[in-house]
Amino acid sequence: MRHPSRRRILTAALAGAVTGATGCGAQQPTQPTAGTAQPAGTAQPTAPPVANGNEALERLRAGNVRFVAAQEQDLDEGIARRITVSKGQHPFATVLGCVDSRVPIELVFDQGLGDLVVVRSAGGALDQSVIGSIEFGIAELHTPLLVVLGHQRCGALDATMKALNHRTSHPGDLAYLVDTLAPAVQQIEGKPGDPLTNAIHANTGLILTKLRQSPVIGPLVKSGKLKLTAAYYELDTGKVTFRAT
Ligand SMILES: [Zn+2]
Repeated sequence: MRHPSRRRILTAALAGAVTGATGCGAQQPTQPTAGTAQPAGTAQPTAPPVANGNEALERLRAGNVRFVAAQEQDLDEGIARRITVSKGQHPFATVLGCVDSRVPIELVFDQGLGDLVVVRSAGGALDQSVIGSIEFGIAELHTPLLVVLGHQRCGALDATMKALNHRTSHPGDLAYLVDTLAPAVQQIEGKPGDPLTNAIHANTGLILTKLRQSPVIGPLVKSGKLKLTAAYYELDTGKVTFRAT
């Protein structure tokens, strides 16, 4: 659980820090201590920049551990942080996730303003805008990590599975979504285990395969400047499991 009442207190304390806020590159080397208010007039501490994709991955892991334990940090969406990132941004990871209301990306990784480039579409379905947005995060904002996050009981894949199994059609661009996600459902036909869970994992794998073919993403992966990973969010526990790729 977040702590809105405490955050309101922090917001009031940080209000005096607005005029003293530093630019986006002037990050402080210390992490805020959970539950400790910053004295008025000081810049808000932020995490130091990550050196590579592995460090970025560890930061996401640590944030998810805090989320699962309901021990989230308080400070990265306060006024001083907002002022800091208004001067520029240095997000440390790009994440493609589903639109599912139960999987808000910044919350499940306990990250704040300016930390993540988040791209969302139902089931993580790729089209030109989604791929271009991911490429923007990587090529223009230089995030060294790209995570494709699937999640438990994904409604988009469940609907796709039902549409294919029952040969039903959907109105509008929902049919486009079904067509886009269909290869994941078709890939797991006849395999043991829960079909929906299998399709969710197959889908993140197919997305990564497609993204590697991007002329922006592929060369960065090959040169070691960009780390790609699939991940799975469990609704029941809040835990994100990263998969080696
Ligand atoms: Zn979903």
